[in-house]
Amino acid sequence: METKLVTIREDRPDREAIRRAGEILRGGGLVAFPTETVYGLGGDALNPESSRKIYAAKGRPSDNPLIVHICRWEDIYRIADPVPEAARKLARAFWPGPLTMILHKTDLVPKETTGGLDTVAVRFPSDPVARAFIEAAGGFVAAPSANRSGRPSPTLARYVLEDMDGRIEMILDGGEVGIGLESTIVDLTGEEPMILRPGFVTREMLTEVLSRVEVDRTILDPDCHLRPKAPGMRYRHYAPKGELVVVEGERDAVVFAICEKCNAAKEKGERVGVIATDETAEAYRKGCRADSVKSVGSRKDPLSVGHSLYRILREFDDEGMTAMFSESFSESGFGQAIMNRLLKAAGHHVENV
Ligand code: AMP
Ligand code: MG
Repeated sequence: METKLVTIREDRPDREAIRRAGEILRGGGLVAFPTETVYGLGGDALNPESSRKIYAAKGRPSDNPLIVHICRWEDIYRIADPVPEAARKLARAFWPGPLTMILHKTDLVPKETTGGLDTVAVRFPSDPVARAFIEAAGGFVAAPSANRSGRPSPTLARYVLEDMDGRIEMILDGGEVGIGLESTIVDLTGEEPMILRPGFVTREMLTEVLSRVEVDRTILDPDCHLRPKAPGMRYRHYAPKGELVVVEGERDAVVFAICEKCNAAKEKGERVGVIATDETAEAYRKGCRADSVKSVGSRKDPLSVGHSLYRILREFDDEGMTAMFSESFSESGFGQAIMNRLLKAAGHHVENV
C-alpha cells in the first residue's frame, strides 16, 4: 500500500483532502492525523474490521483499547451510557481538549475497539484539523497514537511516516503538535473519579471541577505490585532504542554525575546522548565528552519540556545513541505527566546522586 502524505495548513485547511481522508475511513481504511496532544492513527471506531487494522498497523496487542474521538459533545450519548454528572462537568470545563474519559459503552461500540472491555474511552480533541477530519469520517474515530508499538508517540508527521509507511492509506500533516504528550485519562466508572494516565490536564485542574480525584497508584509508585487500570500503561511504552538512565538529585550534583557517567560510557565505546535543560546544556557541552547534548526545554516552562521530550528521544534513536542520561523533573502539575513518560522510556532506571 502507498501511504500518501498530505500537508494541511491550519489557517487554510484543504477541505478536499479532509473529505478524501474521511472517505478512506468510511471505507474501512486508516488515516493518521494531528491532534493537540500527539498524532493519532485513525480508523472508524464503529467498524470492528478497522480496529483490527489499527492493531495490526501498530503491532499493538489487541487487549489494549483504543480512544474514540468525537467532534460534537452530544455524540457522547451514542457511545456511552450512562453519562454521569461528573462527565458533563469535565466536558464543560475541558472539552474540546486533551482529556479522555472512561465510561460504560453502548452496543454501538464494537468490543474490537475497546479491547474486549465494556467501557469506552472518549475524547473530544480541540485541534481544528482533527475536528474537521472526525466530522468527515462520520463522527467516531478510534485512534491510538500513530507510532509502532513501543516507539515514542509521534509529534511530527515525519515520525508517523517513519513508523507507518506502507501500512496506512494517508497521513494528514498539520505540522508539529502543541502539547507533545498524550491526553490525561480519567476513569469515571468506579466509586471515585481516577486518573489512569497523567497529561496536560492535571489533578489540580480536575479537582477544581470535581472535588475528589484519585490517581491510579501504579502511576505514583511503579514498584507497587498492582496492575495499572489502563491496559496500555502495563506495556513498556515510549522506549528509545538505546539505554536511558534518569539521574535525580540537586542540580549541580546531577550535572557532575551525568558528566562522569558520559565519560565512563565513552570509554566503553558507547554513543552517548544527554537530555539537558536550557539551564544546564552549556555545562554538559563544556564538561563532558557526550556525542550529543540536547536541551528538552526550560525548567521555568514545563510545557516546553513536555513538548520536546518525544522528539528528542526519536532524534537520539536516529543518531544511534546507545547510552542516554537525562535530568529528572519535579512531579508537580504537568511534571507528573513528564516524569511518567520519561521513567517509562527509561524502564524506571533511576539513579539518585
Ligand atoms: P493511546 O491511544 O496510545 O494514547 O493509548 C490509549 C490508552 O487509553 C491506553 O493506555 C489504553 O489502555 C487506555 N484506554 C483506552 N480505553 C480504555 C478503557 N476502556 N479502560 C481503561 N483504559 C483505556
Ligand atoms: Mg500510545
